[in-house]
Amino acid sequence: MTQLLKGKPVATALKKWIRNRVEAEGARPSLAIVMVGNNPASEVYVNHKIRAAGEVGIKAELVHLEESITRQQLVNEIREISKRFDGIIVQLPLPNHINEDAIIQHIPPNKDVDGFTPENLGLLARSTPRFISATPLGILFLLHYYGISLTGKNVVVIGRSNIVGTPLALLVSRRFPWANATVTMCHSRSRNIDEHLKNADIVIVAVGKKHWLKPKMVTKNMIVVDVGIHVDDNGKLTGDVEPEVRQIVKAITPVPGGVGPMTVATLLFNVYLANSLAKGIITDAESVITECIEFLRKEYQTKKK
Ligand code: NAP
Repeated sequence: MTQLLKGKPVATALKKWIRNRVEAEGARPSLAIVMVGNNPASEVYVNHKIRAAGEVGIKAELVHLEESITRQQLVNEIREISKRFDGIIVQLPLPNHINEDAIIQHIPPNKDVDGFTPENLGLLARSTPRFISATPLGILFLLHYYGISLTGKNVVVIGRSNIVGTPLALLVSRRFPWANATVTMCHSRSRNIDEHLKNADIVIVAVGKKHWLKPKMVTKNMIVVDVGIHVDDNGKLTGDVEPEVRQIVKAITPVPGGVGPMTVATLLFNVYLANSLAKGIITDAESVITECIEFLRKEYQTKKK
């Protein structure tokens, strides 16, 4: 029977780990969430982040800026706001007149808890990570919670965005105790993706196309991670993977309730890191991720009993 890799218990365990660490260190990590203009979907996400932060002892504050703000004014604001917080994120999307990539370059890398800046992506690429983008790191936590090791596995990542596909491929392929996979990265110009999938132990789909992964592309021994978020014709959330795939594979993350719940909890993990790295309580992210994974494994074992 197909195992459902649900994100909620993992996110709950991860938040427990963060809360324990924050309390043990007597810390009060802080996060600024910069939102430009009014976007109802963004407001829902931001409220969710603020609420979740409160649960683990992190102070998250929304800084709401006018839609009419210029690029330069926003850059100046980011510079000033970031001085007062351990971490800062800019809620995307930004209004059309502001180039998102140009703004990301101006986030101080030691406060970039989304892990989007070139410096943080580069640190991951050279196996000395600091802040790793929350969705890829959340997927890593989720797989390890369920005892799915990556070492030596064939992982096929579909998608190469700077936020998901690229950091994910880097993360699982580096020489970390919790990585060491052999990665194939596919994208819109890849030929014969079905052929690449034939040897896959784990398939991570971050294509951004509703029901892109079809039943005929999977096998019964595969583990599938569905990153996509879409609204179907009935107004329900669905993913990049066709629902029938669930009947075939060994394990799969559901949508909703799979990768989604991990992203916010992992952002909070990065805010904890930002505070503790700045204070010198911890010196590197790799060992903290290792510790956290051990905790998650134990939580799963305890829950299973
Ligand atoms: P994106 O920036 O649009 O990137 C999509 C990637 O898929 C691109 O690299 C693209 O290739 C590739 N692609 C597109 N069509 C393809 C095809 N037919 N065959 C193979 N590859 C194809 O999207 P993203 O930001 O990475 O997000 C992906 C999905 O994850 C979206 O549905 C998004 O909403 C969701 N998401 C979910 C979470 C969460 O918390 N659950 C977080 C972030 C994103 P090219 O590079 O060649 O264009």
